[in-house]
Amino acid sequence: MRDPLAAKLNPVEVSMKSLWSDADAESYVAKYAPQGVNRDLALRVYTTRLLGGDPRLVLHGGGNTSCKTTVDDLLGEAVEVLCVKGSGWDMGDIEPAGLPAVRLAPLLKLRKLEQLSDEDMVDFQRGNLMTSSSPNPSVETLLHAFLPHKFIDHTHSTAVLSLTDQPDGDAICREVFGRKMGYVPYIMPGFALAKKAAEVYEQDPSVEGLILFKHGIFTFAETARDAYERMIAHVTSAEQRLEKGRKTLVAAAGLPKAPAALAEVAPVLRGLLALDRGDGEFKRWVMDFRASPAIRAYVDGAELGRYSQQGVVTPDHTIRTKNWPVVLPAPEAGKIAPWAEAAKTAIANFQAGYHAYFARNNARSASKKTELDPMPRVALVPGLGLFGIGASAKDAAIAADIAVNTVECISDAEAIGSFQPVSEDHLFDLEYWSLEQAKLGKGGEKPLARRIVVVTGGGSGIGAATAKAFAREGAELAVLDRDLAAAQATAKGCGGKALGLACDVTDAQAVRAAFDSVVERFGGVDVVVSNAGAAWQGTVGEVDDAVLRQSFELNFFAHQSVAQNAVRVMAAQGTGGVLLFNASKQAVNPGKNFGPYGLPKAACLFLMKQYALDHGKDGIRSNAVNADRIRSGLLTSDMIASRSAARGLTEKDYMGGNLLGREVTADDVADAFVWLAKASKVTACTITVDGGNIEASLR
Ligand SMILES: [Zn+2]
Repeated sequence: MRDPLAAKLNPVEVSMKSLWSDADAESYVAKYAPQGVNRDLALRVYTTRLLGGDPRLVLHGGGNTSCKTTVDDLLGEAVEVLCVKGSGWDMGDIEPAGLPAVRLAPLLKLRKLEQLSDEDMVDFQRGNLMTSSSPNPSVETLLHAFLPHKFIDHTHSTAVLSLTDQPDGDAICREVFGRKMGYVPYIMPGFALAKKAAEVYEQDPSVEGLILFKHGIFTFAETARDAYERMIAHVTSAEQRLEKGRKTLVAAAGLPKAPAALAEVAPVLRGLLALDRGDGEFKRWVMDFRASPAIRAYVDGAELGRYSQQGVVTPDHTIRTKNWPVVLPAPEAGKIAPWAEAAKTAIANFQAGYHAYFARNNARSASKKTELDPMPRVALVPGLGLFGIGASAKDAAIAADIAVNTVECISDAEAIGSFQPVSEDHLFDLEYWSLEQAKLGKGGEKPLARRIVVVTGGGSGIGAATAKAFAREGAELAVLDRDLAAAQATAKGCGGKALGLACDVTDAQAVRAAFDSVVERFGGVDVVVSNAGAAWQGTVGEVDDAVLRQSFELNFFAHQSVAQNAVRVMAAQGTGGVLLFNASKQAVNPGKNFGPYGLPKAACLFLMKQYALDHGKDGIRSNAVNADRIRSGLLTSDMIASRSAARGLTEKDYMGGNLLGREVTADDVADAFVWLAKASKVTACTITVDGGNIEASLR
């Protein structure tokens, strides 16, 4: 279990401090100068990264910064611009390109308008970019433009939100920040908020920043350092207020003494969340589990049903987590079936509640909206922890990160009062924002997105090629290999959040443990490529039993052990699945003195058929690829050299010794596995990938 909260379990103990360093600041200036980046923008990048590196201030695209500076246009004429965070950039690793320059004068003229739609605002901002290929400037660009300061910092500080997300948050903030800050009522980000913020500032231009109720905090100054250090100082004041008169969350009575194991709970939950498409296939989710003492105190709380259901701590989290998490019952060890029933009801109630929320708010909405899927993005499980839920491991991790931050924010809010964010109609307006609705249906998913794929023997050869091929199709990968470093190297090559695990597949306990690790990491398993194997030789009338048995351990029983664990997880999910076996030419066309290899491979081919027969009713498909003469750990360069020499052939002719006269590669085999994973009507099928060999052909 990872514990990202460990370092910030209690914000009182680990309070903010300024990380400003003159030397670091100058190094940014020096680093970017050769690229034509001026001092203002270089320092803007530096302090933006300082803010973005702290999850208590900024999380996953939340928050933004700007600076006003002068640049030369193509004609060499000086232009006053606003460099403001662009969409798609994270503050923690931003570059100058992530702060596109927008001509300031036209932005300022907009202020005299009465109204401006978000679409027109985005269009106008794009039209005034200095570089047309820049990302869209932040939706809070005009707020930055209408304030006069050179440097402006904006965060969704957890501590500030704990203060403002209160029934009397207004009074608490005024008590904490006094006249040093201006106070802006909640308005959805956009033109209206920008105008309101400027008006509040102009009422008292001596303020160092603005508190945006139930949204976040702005600080500003003439230098990058002052704007940044004002942010740190005011957030520190918020943290100090949270130290006073704290009460702790009271745990609920009757939580099971022995909670069910995460590996048992996760696949059941994942199955319950999957949306039935009606054609035997499911829209699945990937999950990301988190637990820590702070998370447990929160999810075990007697009043979880109240404080967790008020809404998000700051509106832009809605897009990632929806407005409410689903609260599930506490799972008890040995009683997973009744838990599954209760969880199913909780999820059905969540969906019904979501439909009702949509209908209620859509009815009052001026433009009619398209309803989003009704599934939660965060699940809270008393006695266990929380799950982030997403279309990919990356999305699930973002939802989980935000949920962890939410736990901290709400726990602190409850410690000094009671948590109360913006009202439901505001939450709806954010979730169904016209700019977000316009993105619907664009940018389709890859064919194997949302699928969790396990590949054994994935450290090299066919296994490594197969893992990478699945990753290219959008799948989440768990790469198993006896050699941990090799497994991890392949996982790295798969990109994203792929997992590399050590696993000797002939050790049944190790296989069970590996599947548990995969389930704990991603929530379940959808496709298993049982690939690990090795070749033993011997004349069948003379070979030692020990050799034959050793080969059967790896080339038959290990496949059975892997497949059985896969079926166990797939049964818990109840959404079908795919078993894929690496058979061999030896399974259908024995080679002389290859009995010790071919015999278990032949049994493995029938194992594939038996799984197809016994588990077709469960929606589990079972197929194999029959490949031959692939460069790999089983057929090394040395072996190729000696065998081709023994036959009096060149290596090229030996490797291309098939009907087509072409060498077959691990990538060709990987393509067959990927095809079989996608072929929803194919089971009990063996695909031959060998360039053509009549003796080994199946029909
Ligand atoms: Zn904001």
